[in-house]
Amino acid sequence: MDVMIENLKSESENKKEPIMKKLLRIHQSSGMHWVGDGFPVRSVFDYNGLGRELSPFLMLDYAAPYQFAPGNERRGVGAHPHKGFETVTVAYQGELEHRDSSGGGGKIGAGDVQWMTAGNGIVHEEFHSADFTRTGGPFQMVQLWVNLRAQDKGAKPGYQTLLKAQIPNVPLPQDAGTVRVIAGEFDGHKGPAKTFTPINLWDVNLRAGKSAELPLPDGHTTAFLVLSGKVTINGDREAGEGDLAIFARSGDSITVKANTDAKLLLMGGEPIAEPIVGYGPFVMNSRTEIQQAFEDYQLGRMGELVS
Ligand code: MN
Repeated sequence: MDVMIENLKSESENKKEPIMKKLLRIHQSSGMHWVGDGFPVRSVFDYNGLGRELSPFLMLDYAAPYQFAPGNERRGVGAHPHKGFETVTVAYQGELEHRDSSGGGGKIGAGDVQWMTAGNGIVHEEFHSADFTRTGGPFQMVQLWVNLRAQDKGAKPGYQTLLKAQIPNVPLPQDAGTVRVIAGEFDGHKGPAKTFTPINLWDVNLRAGKSAELPLPDGHTTAFLVLSGKVTINGDREAGEGDLAIFARSGDSITVKANTDAKLLLMGGEPIAEPIVGYGPFVMNSRTEIQQAFEDYQLGRMGELVS
């Protein structure tokens, strides 16, 4: 008898209805601008605008598909510093090469991700790969900045290359599409990225006419960028290419229906409840720390790129 009651109990617990995270709003990205001569990006958000609301995420730049002609000179951004956070670059089309003062670096192409910890201070450069420069072709990338807690802002700089083959591609129920788990966990599959605080970063591919319910932790910041296609969110609002859907932290699930084939970058994470003081490539907790970062960079304390 007791066993039966236990079974009934656990069954009803399993069937507990998910609580939908409310869609707060759909935020449009800005017009295109160039970062160096290699990255035609739209600013989706930055720490001055939505840094608090979207904590731990500080900035999102979206390089929508752009056709580069074959060239001889490599295109990109030369040596520049970062401190106090992590930069995450997701490549969809084209190839990128990074090199940094900690000795890190590598090449990423379609489906690969670069997760760089600026931590205590790093100098790096970001360029199209030599091969891609030569051949030209379509280019599409995202760069996301992830904040670090005050206690981690002094972390040793680091570099993770996450190749496509290491990133689990998990099928959704009812043949609705797939979720590539870059960081965090989906349906028991863990992403390869090592993160300082709990983060889910998923590359979601949905098939036209299908719906997916995505479980996401209660209390976590949750948003997704539509990279292509059109979707209906929580059975209500529609979002299209370049739109950022921002959800309430409370609740443990969102529902997305694809009106066409659609591609989303979903980011979720535990908010960091600390002051955000940023200036250009540095994001710290106080103005004093920003001044210190400038001084450290000018005095060469963030290292340099050895040619
Ligand atoms: Mn950079």
